[in-house]
Amino acid sequence: MNLPKQKIQKRAEQLREQLQKAAYAYYVEDNPIMEDEVYDRLYRELQTLEAEHPEIVTPDSPTQRVGDKPADKFQSVKHNIPLYSLDNAFNIEEFANWEKRWKDRLENPIDSEYVCELKIDGSALALTYENGILVRGATRGDGETGEEITQNVKTIRSIPLKLQVDNPPSRVEVRGESFLPLDTFDRINQDREANGEAPFANPRNAAAGTLRQLDPQVVDRRQLQFFAYTLYIPGEDGDRPFHTHQEALQKLQEFGFLVNPNQTICRSLEDVAQYYDRWNEERRQLPYMTDGVVVKLNDIELQQRLGFTQKAPRWAIALKYPAEEVPTTVESVTVQVGRTGALTPVANLNPVQLAGTTVSRATLHNGDRIAELDLHIGDTVVVRKAGEIIPEVVRVLPELRPENAPAVEMPKTCPECGQPVVKPEDEAVTRCVNASCPAILRGSLKHWASRGALDIDGLGEKLISQMVDRRFVQSVADLYQLQPETLVVLERMGKKSAEKLVGAIAASQQQPWFRVLYGLGIRHVGSVNAQTLAQRFPSVDELATATVEDIAAVEGIGEIIASAIVDWFGIPANRESIDRLREAGLQLQGTPSQPETESNAHIQGQTFVLTGTLPNLMRNEAKSLIEKAGGKVTGSVSKKTNYVVVGDSAGSKLAKAEKLGIPLLSEEALLELLEAR
Ligand code: NAD
Repeated sequence: MNLPKQKIQKRAEQLREQLQKAAYAYYVEDNPIMEDEVYDRLYRELQTLEAEHPEIVTPDSPTQRVGDKPADKFQSVKHNIPLYSLDNAFNIEEFANWEKRWKDRLENPIDSEYVCELKIDGSALALTYENGILVRGATRGDGETGEEITQNVKTIRSIPLKLQVDNPPSRVEVRGESFLPLDTFDRINQDREANGEAPFANPRNAAAGTLRQLDPQVVDRRQLQFFAYTLYIPGEDGDRPFHTHQEALQKLQEFGFLVNPNQTICRSLEDVAQYYDRWNEERRQLPYMTDGVVVKLNDIELQQRLGFTQKAPRWAIALKYPAEEVPTTVESVTVQVGRTGALTPVANLNPVQLAGTTVSRATLHNGDRIAELDLHIGDTVVVRKAGEIIPEVVRVLPELRPENAPAVEMPKTCPECGQPVVKPEDEAVTRCVNASCPAILRGSLKHWASRGALDIDGLGEKLISQMVDRRFVQSVADLYQLQPETLVVLERMGKKSAEKLVGAIAASQQQPWFRVLYGLGIRHVGSVNAQTLAQRFPSVDELATATVEDIAAVEGIGEIIASAIVDWFGIPANRESIDRLREAGLQLQGTPSQPETESNAHIQGQTFVLTGTLPNLMRNEAKSLIEKAGGKVTGSVSKKTNYVVVGDSAGSKLAKAEKLGIPLLSEEALLELLEAR
């Protein structure tokens, strides 16, 4: 981030404070206050600031130590050999930089193979064996000192109490990861919820919390497991009497430990990338959580030559999976005006990598949401992809707010036409109600030309903007008066393309009545409702003269939709526009044969839950849109839910979705997903 010098110190202080708080909650209380991914990125930001300005580093900075001080529930033990953390790379390019760094450190760099392992998301344990007998088990703590939890460790079935070899070495130190399999984690949380206890945030915290239970019987019931990954056999020639890491893993197995079977040798960057990509997919099938892969140099001598930084080995790196939620800062807020006049605030962000793409804008939905977030310009916020398409701001980290940051407020006038905006008390949406607002006209034209409506090839957003600016069109009916000679003055519009566009507009005259109806953009009349309505009202005249009762009698159409239609036809300007469309030769009658449906790769096979009142779509309409695109709508949120569509006054389903980390969609995001192909 490009901050002026005087602000860097302040930002570093705020980051340290925030990270310290988070690390305490995570390591000591086993109850995290932020997602790991958010922690990782803030940590990385602090690391970068400190590297660029070494004078600001403080000895208590979270970058200077591993973990946190052990809690005082158990006796502290000093580790015979420190337990290090791992440095992170967040993508393969960062991995390549790390590879270059270790090679650059060596005088005569050699090619070495790597062992790639899964990074198990659990809690590190240090085990000590004397003459083959387990004498001590300890947590990592701050890396130097951990907690002595031998009784608890003894309940883990995959940890041998006695090494399975004749004549074991006099002392053996083993390190590995204890973890809770996912089904056990679910069971524990169900029990906890049934007993009115707060569920664990994730399996890692559940494992760490379990290891630090005072009652070993409780630990026993929880059925922790353990994968071993490091072996030390202290002797006269040091403590690593093997040539390679794989040899050590082999030895661990001979001793009776469980070693994760999914490790492999990689001889090039490409091999590593392949392993990483493969497990990024396949990890979903694993019965335990992983949060990346760990790449280690196989050659022990090379490991020894490279040694350790204060926190981590130089010969290994954790290559983490792409984040679904990341922090970034808000640079400004732009307010967009849609075709219904609705004002949507959008945050302009300091660009970040999110789930594999660069994100620089995120929706803030509406003014109520801004107030709820208490958003200020310059704030550090967490962004997430809602569905896989539109990122949204999930929350603000107020501790990281710069001094004198101005609060974000919705404008009192339309940013497009300057007319006052309105916000009904009971609605979240602020609207521009000026019928001749250019933004509303642009939105109406865009909707008219869209796939589900008149499907006019080549009539895109940029062209529409130019046509509106030059006042070539002031309503959709004006499109049908356009001549190629008029259009050629537009940017990048030659004679041929102008003719082609006029042809495409003319062709849309053949689109059936139900598409015209959808294209009119009447509130609540989506493409599915338009088809249903056209079945019962096969001409515009029949629909225009129908009463609310007549319309609401149609199956699947409620009173809200019916009133919106009657209101729409009650406005003289709208009736006029129908007359002009009739003159322009559009189809204003005809029964749709079969409702059109198209399945959609984003929706196909996905499970949705709807909650709250959506601004435009009725519940049944949203449901049938999803179902027609190949999705499923269920009534309750579970781990199997892919998306929760959230409207106003959403209740417990929203809370549950947030707890389970299920992506939330606004109506707008749902519609974009439905439109996407
Ligand atoms: P880490 O978890 O990123 O990596 C080091 C650890 O990986 C080791 O200690 C070991 O326990 C584990 N590991 C798993 N599989 C391994 C394998 N095959 N080989 C070697 N080690 C393996 O680092 P850390 O120091 O334990 O913790 C930092 C991480 O903890 C952060 O990246 C962050 O995600 C999380 N954290 C989160 C919060 C929060 O508020 N959410 C706070 C503090 C830390």
